[in-house]
Amino acid sequence: MESSKSLAAWQKSQQFIPGGVNSPVRNFSKVGGHPRFIERGEGSKIYDIDGNEYIDYVASWGPLVLGHAHPSVIEAIRSTALNGTSFGAPTPRETELAEIIVNAVPSIERVRLVNSGTEATMSAIRVARGYTGRDKILKIDSCYHGHVDYLLAKAGSGVATFGLSDSGGVPEDFARNTLTAPFNNPDAIREAIEANPDEIACLILEPIMGNMGVIPPREGYLNQLREITEEHGIVLIFDEVITGFRVAYGGAQSYYNVTPDMTCLGKIIGGGLPVGAYGGKRDIMRCVAPEGDVYQAGTLSGNPLAVTAGIATLKKLTEPGVYERLESRAAALAEGLAAATQKHGIDAWHSRVGSMLMLYFTPETVTDADGARTADTERFQQYFWGLIERGIYVAPSQFEAGFVSLVHSEEDINNTVEAATQVLANL
Ligand SMILES: *Cc1c(COP(=O)(O)O)cnc(C)c1O
Repeated sequence: MESSKSLAAWQKSQQFIPGGVNSPVRNFSKVGGHPRFIERGEGSKIYDIDGNEYIDYVASWGPLVLGHAHPSVIEAIRSTALNGTSFGAPTPRETELAEIIVNAVPSIERVRLVNSGTEATMSAIRVARGYTGRDKILKIDSCYHGHVDYLLAKAGSGVATFGLSDSGGVPEDFARNTLTAPFNNPDAIREAIEANPDEIACLILEPIMGNMGVIPPREGYLNQLREITEEHGIVLIFDEVITGFRVAYGGAQSYYNVTPDMTCLGKIIGGGLPVGAYGGKRDIMRCVAPEGDVYQAGTLSGNPLAVTAGIATLKKLTEPGVYERLESRAAALAEGLAAATQKHGIDAWHSRVGSMLMLYFTPETVTDADGARTADTERFQQYFWGLIERGIYVAPSQFEAGFVSLVHSEEDINNTVEAATQVLANL
């Protein structure tokens, strides 16, 4: 496969940008070789600058549930841009997006729009601390919540892939108030709380882990967390930056019917433009300035383009049969891959919730980050390149979720299964 233009583009980008990329996992360093530079996307496909076509399962790391360059989203962005891109004053469309979110997500009564998932989690935690008057926070091993200093302790794929237990540049003092516990283990949460009585402001987690592959919660786990946190006056925060509007219109909280106190959103609600949001119960969100004393602001927060792209995306997701279609296409893909690994006697754990899926090369059952870490990353590397050669683009890491979009056709899925079966036969 020709990739000399991508190679040249990468050599040039490294002269100006650290690692040649603006977010670490875009660099292919953990699978070897060089990243593909993308020229354009349309529907389920992306095209690199050497002219290669790929069926895309990265979807910009989650936001593009409608696929690339969806006509409604592009038209919304185009017509909005003609009237100006930012005012630093409120616009009615911000209220429109907020209303859609409040009506969709059970835990959210008030919501503040920000520019990224990182800002959403950082701000939600500040609010939880302001609300409770407590300093410590509890997070789950390998849940990723963006690159907030004190959240980079045991922080998921990017960090796991790069083999860092923590990030440089984060003073020990900053992480001192961050406690961590393994996923799917309510006893560990109970122990952490009992060891720090009346000191923990919040428990933050991804209700479905999506940054260590895909790890669903065990039955009853989220309910148990709901009970424990309520008992101790701890704010329960679901980071639904990936899962919001993906596993169900109301996110994982409506999928599993567990209502947290606060929720962080991002990715899909911006339709491919930079956005984030955090919200929750009325009496908690009352703490946010200017109503309350917890400061949080943003020059471009709620900017017209991101908000418009988000509204256009979320409106499409209210059409009947949308989540059923995502479910059936993703199920067909997962079943095809499972049949292929079985046929060729390859140790694999297939994990899927709705349109999020992962194939781990391990004989283990993956229920937490330690389980995920048993995966054979060298085998993943061979699998990854086999797929790229056959025009299938998946994330360049064993620990990043794959995403099926509404535009993946049955033909796309069949072609993907066929390609993957060929690759697996040669592993
Ligand atoms: C992507 C992600 C974030 C960070 O969002 P950015 O927009 O990249 O800052 C936070 N939490 C989760 C669960 C994510 O997947």
